[in-house]
Amino acid sequence: MILNEDIIVSLSGDLIFKWGVEYYNKGLVEDFNVCMESNHNSQVNTYYIDAWVHEKEDLAFNVQISFNDLEGFTVFYCDCGELGADKSGCLPCKHVVAVLYKYLKEKQYNSLKARSLMKCEKLIGDMEHSLFYIENKKIPLNINMNYIFNLDGDMPYSIEIKVGKDKCYVVKDVSQFLDTVYQGGAIEFGKGFFFDSLYYEFCGENKKILDILLEIYEIDRMKGESLAYFPSKNRLIYGKRVFIVESHLRRFLQLMNNRVFSCFVNGEVYKDVKYLEEDMPLEFLMTTSESFIILKHNHEIPIALTEKRDLFFFKGNIYRPSKKQLEVYGCIYNNFMENRVTSLTFNAKDIDKLSYCILPSLRYISERVIISKDLKVILKEEKLDVEFYLDFNNKSIECTLIFNYGGYRINPLEGLNKKRYNEKNRIIRDMTKELEISGLLKKLGFLEEKNFYVLKDSDLIISFNEEGKNILDNKGKVEATAKYKHYLSSRNKRLG
Ligand SMILES: [Zn+2]
Repeated sequence: MILNEDIIVSLSGDLIFKWGVEYYNKGLVEDFNVCMESNHNSQVNTYYIDAWVHEKEDLAFNVQISFNDLEGFTVFYCDCGELGADKSGCLPCKHVVAVLYKYLKEKQYNSLKARSLMKCEKLIGDMEHSLFYIENKKIPLNINMNYIFNLDGDMPYSIEIKVGKDKCYVVKDVSQFLDTVYQGGAIEFGKGFFFDSLYYEFCGENKKILDILLEIYEIDRMKGESLAYFPSKNRLIYGKRVFIVESHLRRFLQLMNNRVFSCFVNGEVYKDVKYLEEDMPLEFLMTTSESFIILKHNHEIPIALTEKRDLFFFKGNIYRPSKKQLEVYGCIYNNFMENRVTSLTFNAKDIDKLSYCILPSLRYISERVIISKDLKVILKEEKLDVEFYLDFNNKSIECTLIFNYGGYRINPLEGLNKKRYNEKNRIIRDMTKELEISGLLKKLGFLEEKNFYVLKDSDLIISFNEEGKNILDNKGKVEATAKYKHYLSSRNKRLG
C-alpha cells in the first residue's frame, strides 16, 4: 500500500479529512514517532506511528496507527473515542487523519530514514569496532594470584585472582568474571578498569591459567546446579575466592614460575613470593647437651604445603626441591613433624650413626651444617682419598672401591663395619663425592657384586681399557693386581 491523500479521504470521508488537515495545519500534532519493522522472510515492512494530538489547552489525545505494505491499515486508535464506524468497519477520527496527514506531508520517510540511518551508523560503528580488534591484536592481559594456605582447614588451598594490564586488580566476583570470559561482554573491576572480551585477551601462561580456572568454573557450575537448594554451600568459586585441589595448585605454581605473587600461609601474609623449582637453602646446627647430641634447623622450619610433602613454604618463597633433597630431607622433616619438635635429640652413644650416616646426608642436601666446637673434638674431618683396586677374573674386570679418610678405609659395598668403626675419632663422610664416584663406576658399566664392582660386557671391557682407566686415574689412586697386569700385557701383544 502506498499511502496518499485519496486513500485517507476514502477512509475518513471529506468532512473528517478537512478537520484533520486543519488540526495538522494548526500544528496540533506533537511527539510524532514512526517505527519501521522489517520482516526478513516476507520482505514486508510494518510501520508504527505514535503521536499526541492537542485538542484544548490541557487536553491531548494519543493516536496509534499501524499499517503494512501488504494489508494496509491494521490498527488505528485514538483516545478521543470519536472513531466512527460504518458497514466496512472502523473509520478514522479527525485526530487520526491529522497524524496520517502529517506522516504524508512531512515526507513520511524523512523521520523514518533518519531513524534507520542512525541504526545503520551504530551497526557500522560496532562492526568497525569489532573488525578493528580482529585486525589489530587484542591487548594481552596478565593474571596474577594470591595463594591462601589454610593448612589445618577442610579446604586447605584457595586462590584469589588479579587481572590487569600493568597493574593487576583483585577480581571481586570470580564467577561473573569467568562468565564474561566464557560468554563475552564487559565487566568492571578495580578502579575504572573494564574487562571487555573484545579488547583484551590472555596469552601464553596467562591463557593456561585461565583455562584451569574455566575448568573449575565448569565443575562449579555443574555442582551448583545439582545443589540448587544450597547455592552457597560446597561452591568452588565464591565471591573472590576459588577453592582448588592439589593438582591445580601444582599447575598454577608451574605457570607462575618467574613471577612474584602474594601468599597467605596459615593467616600470615607474605608478599613478593616466588615459586622456585630448586633445593631449599637449608642449614642445620648440631650441638651437644650433657650426654645428648641435638640437631636443629639453623632457621625457621619449612612448612610443607602438600600432604605429599613435596612443596614447601620456606624463607618467603615456595620451593619444589629436587628428588635428592626431598628424599633425604623428607626423613628428617617427618621426624620433626611426627614428634612435633623443633630439634631432634640423639644419644651420645649413637654418634657413630650420626657421623657415618646422618651428618653426611645432611651435608649432601644442605648448604651448611654447623657443628659446635665440642662436637668437632670427637667428630673428625678428614680429606677423602679414593682408591680403585683392579683385578681380572673369569673374563671380567673386578674393581674394589675404597674411600680412605686419613687412614680410615671404607668399602661402600660392605656397609657399616662396627668393629672397624669403633674408634675414638669419628670420621664425617663426604657423601657428595662418594656418590659421585660410585655413580661414575656405574656409568662405565660396572655392576655391584658382593663387596666389589664387576665389568662383564666384552665391549665395555674394551672401552674401559682404552679410556675408562684414565678416567679413574683422574679421580683417585688406581692399583692393579698382577693378574690384571698380565691380562693387559697379553691383550696388548695380541693387538700387536
Ligand atoms: Zn480522535
